[in-house]
Amino acid sequence: LDNLPVNLNDVYKAKKSIRDLIVRTPLIQSSSFSGDGGAELYLKLENLQQTGSFKFRGASNKIANLSADEKKRGLITVSSGNHGKAVAYSAYKLGIPATICLSDKTPENKVNGIKKLGGHVLIAGGSYDEAEEVALGIADEQGLVFIDSFDDPLVIAGQGTIGMEIFEDLPDFDNILIPVSGGGLASGIGLFVKTLNPKINVIGVQMERGPVMYESLKAGHPIHLPEEPTLADGLKGGIGKENHYTFDLCRRLLDEILLVTEDEIANAMAVLIREQHLVIEGSGSVGIAAVLSGRFKLKGRTVVVLSGSNVDIPILMGIMSKY
Ligand SMILES: *Cc1c(COP(=O)(O)O)cnc(C)c1O
Repeated sequence: LDNLPVNLNDVYKAKKSIRDLIVRTPLIQSSSFSGDGGAELYLKLENLQQTGSFKFRGASNKIANLSADEKKRGLITVSSGNHGKAVAYSAYKLGIPATICLSDKTPENKVNGIKKLGGHVLIAGGSYDEAEEVALGIADEQGLVFIDSFDDPLVIAGQGTIGMEIFEDLPDFDNILIPVSGGGLASGIGLFVKTLNPKINVIGVQMERGPVMYESLKAGHPIHLPEEPTLADGLKGGIGKENHYTFDLCRRLLDEILLVTEDEIANAMAVLIREQHLVIEGSGSVGIAAVLSGRFKLKGRTVVVLSGSNVDIPILMGIMSKY
């Protein structure tokens, strides 16, 4: 793991920058999910993070480290929803204007959440990738600072603070399951975990419907996939036309990526409510979906990152009536 573009020191620095902004989320042992032979399951509750997802860590670290000039210029970003909420809230706290570009498929609750936090919403295109084009164009034209949701060392280091907190609470574990989209979360946690203990299995999880990182790693280079409807709406979107960091980091840090079906995601969301009374959005439930479906066999101590809570309530009610 020599010469990683983001390292432990960057994560320690990030923790310092965001300590007073973020929630230090709990790691709880789950008694509802247990495996054979005394296997233990731990849940990292990033659903309790500010703005309802871990994205606030990376976004606030990036924004806290902007220069005075950059802050004056104003911010723009593209998001599947949660990154937009995180940027809107960080920007609002610092009094910086922020424009959030979203696809027209973004769930209602996420659009409204961003508006409530003072973000200027621009519906720009029919997919994440289309909205990204628009956002980058406006950034260029108007001189706004583009805040990437994953492919930025400061964002990756911010997400890495999750790994740091897990080690503080549980110094010894065997596996960690992490939802993957652009790969910022998995890169940040992965670099921390693998540097401290290379024996830990770092496992990414994606939905079967449009798993761009999975297919990119398989192909050996970043690829594009058409966007499909999925309960894991927060995992939509590509890994960028020119990926600079997360593709390589995921290639080096992830032992594998598991894929889960829509049915498995819905079931995981319902079980998390029934058994743990935790409201977790589809994207945040993919790790539990991998466990419940048997795609990941519990052994030793396993940490599952529950990455966000921002589920559209009508969608959740539909799931609860069927599962
Ligand atoms: C963005 C997001 C992810 C994936 O994070 P990446 O850094 O893009 O891989 C996972 N879960 C939730 C809830 C998210 O909002």
